Amino acid sequence: MILAEPVALTLLPWQQATWTSLQAGVRSDRLGHALLLRGPAGIGKRRLADLLAASLLCAQPQTDGLPCGVCDECRLLSAGSHPDLTRLVPDSESKTGEILAGQVRALCGSQTMTSSRGRRAVYRIAPAEAMNAVAANSLLKTLEEPASATLWLLVAEDPGRLPATVRSRCQMLTLSAPPADQARAWLRGELSRIGDDPGGAAADAGQLLMLGQGAPLRALALAGENDLKARQQCLLALQQVSAGKSDPLAVAKAWQSLEPRLILDWWVGWVSDWLRLQAAPDAPHLINPDQRRRLAAMAPGVSAAGGQRFLQQLYAARAEATSSVNQQLLFESLLLRWAMLTSAQARRTGRAPRGRADG
Ligand SMILES: [Zn+2]
Repeated sequence: MILAEPVALTLLPWQQATWTSLQAGVRSDRLGHALLLRGPAGIGKRRLADLLAASLLCAQPQTDGLPCGVCDECRLLSAGSHPDLTRLVPDSESKTGEILAGQVRALCGSQTMTSSRGRRAVYRIAPAEAMNAVAANSLLKTLEEPASATLWLLVAEDPGRLPATVRSRCQMLTLSAPPADQARAWLRGELSRIGDDPGGAAADAGQLLMLGQGAPLRALALAGENDLKARQQCLLALQQVSAGKSDPLAVAKAWQSLEPRLILDWWVGWVSDWLRLQAAPDAPHLINPDQRRRLAAMAPGVSAAGGQRFLQQLYAARAEATSSVNQQLLFESLLLRWAMLTSAQARRTGRAPRGRADG
């Protein structure tokens, strides 16, 4: 689907150096016609891509290349309706989460019409690795023979999943998470801007960044109250599965409505902390210091090796969770394994409590 979200016209503080070199590329006409922005989730890759588009579309950019924010073009960008910036994302209805060939072809077809407002036409695809093989191949033809005055911005967490032929047609721009101090300062500012409790916001920033693995935009997304509540409920569900009080399959079904990556991020954090606490009850530096008591009390006596194996399975699941994976099956399998690992009853009888581990 094509996004109609507002474009943020300001630069994230940790992207200053990248911005300066991008602008040097623009001024010396070295930008090329396709750029692949890669880096971990939640650090502002899409936002930087949009800002670059805005800089090229703005009628009177500032000396550092940032969009002016007041011209007609900037107003259209702020409204999310500039006709020369097209942002393709997977359909929200799509079960597989893939970007399909038809969607890419429609975009490539529209580029022959060139810019509507006379400057440039910018096409952003994110996550680019969500393009299936046919879709990526359709794009390849366009990247080989780009229309003039067009710029393609591909955004990817895992560019290795793109065909090498597509990658080789793009200039690569690698972005990384900011230093912790800078991330915390920015997040505090954002939290106190949206929250009604500036003191609490400041205290939360460190915790949220840990949960968001140092990625500030991810941490900010976690600050949504619903997410924190869901996090609490997911941990409770795991605890109940361990205690034999919840059916792993029912929990998997309930988790279907949640963002899989988010759950897997949490789960990785909890299991890491849980293993640390099993080894040393007063272990410092937990990922979830707020859940220390609950995690310390969970399923005592599990072998460290078994716990580590499960953690590796979670990592593997998390790496796959962006592709076309069946979310319910994924969680069923993980929750059954979790039950087998942590429930005392399961360890005695060799079957998961109330589940169908043997079926
Ligand atoms: Zn402007």
